[in-house]
Amino acid sequence: MERYWNEEIETMSREDMKKLQSERLVKQVKHVYENVKYYRDLMDEKGIKPEDIKSTDDLCKLPFLSKADLREAYPYGLLAKPLSECVRIHSTSGTTGKRVVAFYTQNDVDLWQDCCARAITAAGGTKDDICQVCYGYGLFTGGAGLDGGSHKVGCLTLPMSSGNTERQITFMRDLGATIICCTPSYAAYIGETLHDMGLTPDDIQLKAGIFGAEPWTEEMRRSIEKSLGIKAYDIYGLTETSGPGVAFECSEQSGMHINEDNFIPEIINPETGEVLPEGEVGELVFTSITKEAFPLLRYRTRDLCVLSRKKCSCGRTLIKMTKPMGRSDDMMIIRGVNVFPSQIETVLIEQGYSPNYLIEVDRVNNSDTLDISVEMKTDQLSDKVKDMQQQERDLATAIRMMLGISPKVHLVTPKSITRSEGKAVRVIDKRKLHDKI
Ligand code: ADP
Ligand code: ZN
Repeated sequence: MERYWNEEIETMSREDMKKLQSERLVKQVKHVYENVKYYRDLMDEKGIKPEDIKSTDDLCKLPFLSKADLREAYPYGLLAKPLSECVRIHSTSGTTGKRVVAFYTQNDVDLWQDCCARAITAAGGTKDDICQVCYGYGLFTGGAGLDGGSHKVGCLTLPMSSGNTERQITFMRDLGATIICCTPSYAAYIGETLHDMGLTPDDIQLKAGIFGAEPWTEEMRRSIEKSLGIKAYDIYGLTETSGPGVAFECSEQSGMHINEDNFIPEIINPETGEVLPEGEVGELVFTSITKEAFPLLRYRTRDLCVLSRKKCSCGRTLIKMTKPMGRSDDMMIIRGVNVFPSQIETVLIEQGYSPNYLIEVDRVNNSDTLDISVEMKTDQLSDKVKDMQQQERDLATAIRMMLGISPKVHLVTPKSITRSEGKAVRVIDKRKLHDKI
């Protein structure tokens, strides 16, 4: 039987949810207009007053906020509460540039933890579980978010943070951890280390993993599920909207339910800003309707995905988002073709390779080059150069079928690509480095 953390909200009818969202939105716009000069100026420029926003139907009248705005307003320009009422600061990982900071009141922290508690419950977590949190603790939101959610659910919480992988496994084994939370790339690394230590999933008690903070493919999911003997659930979030828990996966494992009572999602055309109908791919935009200290309205996440209201077998009525296929700025244009690292990962795992790879893009004689180094598994090693060359050619062909352009594939020895304990770095675009010089 499916368990819910907050059944009333998670299975609320569409009409009731819309009513709740509208009430909260109206209040939130007023709060922001009165307390955040930066956003008030944007609204004034557009000629919009808080009274013009009467329900969620009016959301499209509001101006967007982007990461550039957050950087411009850094650090206090978007704060909507006096600092004396704030109890916490977190910061983005800085994956795509200067870090931005976000603020939380105690109420913001409570609501955030509540969202994470819903995710843990949806993954089957109860007070009888032992939850090992190996997201980084500190300014990064991963550790604090899942730690808080785990406490709320009443799990015995193991605040490991990331790193020291053998010790992670020793504790996991000795204490009998049943749920693990970390980035998918770190989960893959833990799975690999477990096997290197001569252990199998039968030696541990894990049953579920909650993985997010970076894009990962279905192929990667299956590979992690196998190596750790668990069911792997996706979780999504970003510092700007609180952290992990904005959306979470349920037992159906087909997209993540968005906590719509706190965040209203929209999908827009990233070029024109036009709102797109359900079912179309576009940039995800969030409006925080419950946050007090750092309430962003129509924040452009740069994450590309699709929204769906299709009925879910878990009984939740919360709208679902597909796994983000990457950020709009993750997309590389190579020889005129749009390429996402996730497409390459799909082929690699399908062809039986490990999820350890590095993509290098460069420009030589005015033409783009694409080099992919892929780690072999031990059983894929061959001492015949000819065999290896054939394997490289086969893999290059499979990738060309997916992307439409030919890469140069380099098979490298096991363990030669640096493992990630947090968010993995899989792309080096040297063209950008040249541009900067
Ligand atoms: P940064 O933007 O510096 O990485 P954050 O740590 O706040 O800072 O990361 C938020 C971003 O991480 C999201 O905008 C998204 O691109 C990515 N992300 C988070 N969870 C997922 C997920 N489950 N799948 C894919 N991408 C994710
Ligand atoms: Zn569901």
